[in-house]
Amino acid sequence: MAWCDAAVVDAPLASRDYPGTLREFNAWFADDEACLDYLAALRWPGGFACPGCGCGRAWRMSKGRNLRCARCRLDVSVTAGTVFADTRLPLTTWFAAGWYLTGTKHGVSALGLQRLLGLGSYETAWSLLHKLRRAMVRPGRDKLVGELEVDETAVGASAPGRLGRGTFADKAIIAIAVEARARGVCGRVRLARIPDCSGPTLTDFVAHAVAPGSVVYTDRWQGYGGLAAAGFLHQPTSIAASGDPAHVAMPRAHRVSSLLKRWLLGTHQGATRPHQLDFYLDEFTFRFNRRNSQRRGLLFYRLLEQAIQLDPVPVTAIVGGRP
Ligand SMILES: [Zn+2]
Repeated sequence: MAWCDAAVVDAPLASRDYPGTLREFNAWFADDEACLDYLAALRWPGGFACPGCGCGRAWRMSKGRNLRCARCRLDVSVTAGTVFADTRLPLTTWFAAGWYLTGTKHGVSALGLQRLLGLGSYETAWSLLHKLRRAMVRPGRDKLVGELEVDETAVGASAPGRLGRGTFADKAIIAIAVEARARGVCGRVRLARIPDCSGPTLTDFVAHAVAPGSVVYTDRWQGYGGLAAAGFLHQPTSIAASGDPAHVAMPRAHRVSSLLKRWLLGTHQGATRPHQLDFYLDEFTFRFNRRNSQRRGLLFYRLLEQAIQLDPVPVTAIVGGRP
């Protein structure tokens, strides 16, 4: 069977570019060959181009995950250099995991996935989920713009809330940037685990997450003192000295923090180690920024689209967190 040029996809459509229903999902991805064709179309959205001769036509080999150039006969792997490389799991298992991960409102735990897919071990399910999570945030994603709230929160706390920066000592600190829309509505978020609440750390976080020139609201913590010099319109907001919690000043950031903690406790029963938090933050961000999408199949499409563009993630890198 010839595998021909893929059409350029502008706005992905349900039932054309991605399955709109579980019924369609099952019909489209019945075997690994079907999954491989789909990944090839995502990997070369403008159509296949042979790295050897530039030819646009290739055949899928009957075994393995290679395409063979129709002109120079070069074999080109579809999954090399992506999260799907060197996996012994069938692609159908990957696809099913991606469908569950994006098709449910709160996601799925490793134990839940192991049961759903009948995987042999918990470790397999866990590693599969983490590799997919890694693909959830685009490497070249756009920066937040406009008006934003920036704050920090502690995760892994025995007691919720915070009393001051000193209580962060034994917990993971998460920096939160959220676009402040009118009437208290949250726009997109960016989250990052940070080592401390110092000026250089917080300025670095904002510079990576937010476009220069944006209006950044924070509390009056001295760690935010460098934002103006870094090119942001910094608006420090006073917190009442009466002991009011910080969320009075940063309502949207506080809401994101609450949702994050509830999600970590609910979907993952709190079973997230601080050094693996990065991956959960990526999944939370992916879900939060697409929370109003009515097309769950589109999330699946975006996830695979990003997964086919990434380098493979060795399990050791996952266990150790991000470098
Ligand atoms: Zn060629």
